[in-house]
Amino acid sequence: MNTGFIGIGNMGKHMAGHILDAGYNLAVNDLRKEAAVPLLEKGAKWCDTPGEVAAASRVVFTSLPTPASVEDVVYGRNGLRTGWKEGDIYIDMSTNSPSLIRRIARDAGAIGVAVLDAPVSGGTKGAEAGTLVIMVGGDPDSLQKVRGVLETMGKKIFPVGDAGCGNVAKLANNLISLACNSISAEGFALGIKAGINPQVLWDIITVSTGNNWCLQQYHNTTFKGNFEPGFRVDLAYKDIGLALDLGKEYGVPLPVGVTVQKDLQNTMMEGFSDKGVDAVILPLENVTGVPVRLDE
Ligand code: NAD
Repeated sequence: MNTGFIGIGNMGKHMAGHILDAGYNLAVNDLRKEAAVPLLEKGAKWCDTPGEVAAASRVVFTSLPTPASVEDVVYGRNGLRTGWKEGDIYIDMSTNSPSLIRRIARDAGAIGVAVLDAPVSGGTKGAEAGTLVIMVGGDPDSLQKVRGVLETMGKKIFPVGDAGCGNVAKLANNLISLACNSISAEGFALGIKAGINPQVLWDIITVSTGNNWCLQQYHNTTFKGNFEPGFRVDLAYKDIGLALDLGKEYGVPLPVGVTVQKDLQNTMMEGFSDKGVDAVILPLENVTGVPVRLDE
């Protein structure tokens, strides 16, 4: 099967690598050609535009930062639309707006192209290990056709409904996980400032009711002072904004989500937009004067 991948970033470089390693032909594109070099060295074919990727492939994947970038890749000059052929399948694996996915699905469907949204959870570690959770919205027959390719990236594949529903599931997940991220930072800033050893607090909370996935990453991130992404603050801010938009669309009040959005905004205003999402603790550390670190 000829496949294509657009968006060779922190996630996409691993995901595209797995497709290639599994033996599929792979055409690739990114705004930064240098990002694709390791894939090209392993046999991927470079295309100058998304339209060329679509023309060379039956199945195209994208992993792009924002709805605006997905819109550009699909509808822009030399976008995917210019290369699509009847029977092609397009799978957007970005965290994206459900309403944009529905619009793309309608437009692509009119020319016989199936659209799935398949956002992922598991972070860059899950992408690298090929253990992502994949939430898929769209036609089950099309999912069946591409399931083998998706399985190179993760075995936990959940069909969740029509196109757009993959992102509904993903935005609900990130609303929860980003709230855990912010409140874990607050709990640790408080506990350490008030005199508890960080390792002791971590040992207690990870076997108590405050346990969560974000805390479980602390030995690789906060405790080491390692705030390199991973999952960037600006992308988390995008995700919480998409969740709040969905709340407005469906009349669901999300007051905790609004607070988390403010927390991420504050972190960005302190200059940490391109840091990993655990960096929400840095403005707090500036206030307390006590870094949440383990002694080397
Ligand atoms: P990233 O910014 O590292 O990568 C995005 C890539 O897309 C970059 O290489 C960029 O050059 C490219 N790009 C942007 N606009 C483009 C365009 N118009 N045409 C071609 N290429 C373009 O982002 P990432 O961390 O890899 O995340 C990708 C998606 O996955 C996002 O939607 C994010 O929310 C989601 N996600 C990320 C993580 C994570 O841990 N990083 C986890 C789950 C989901």
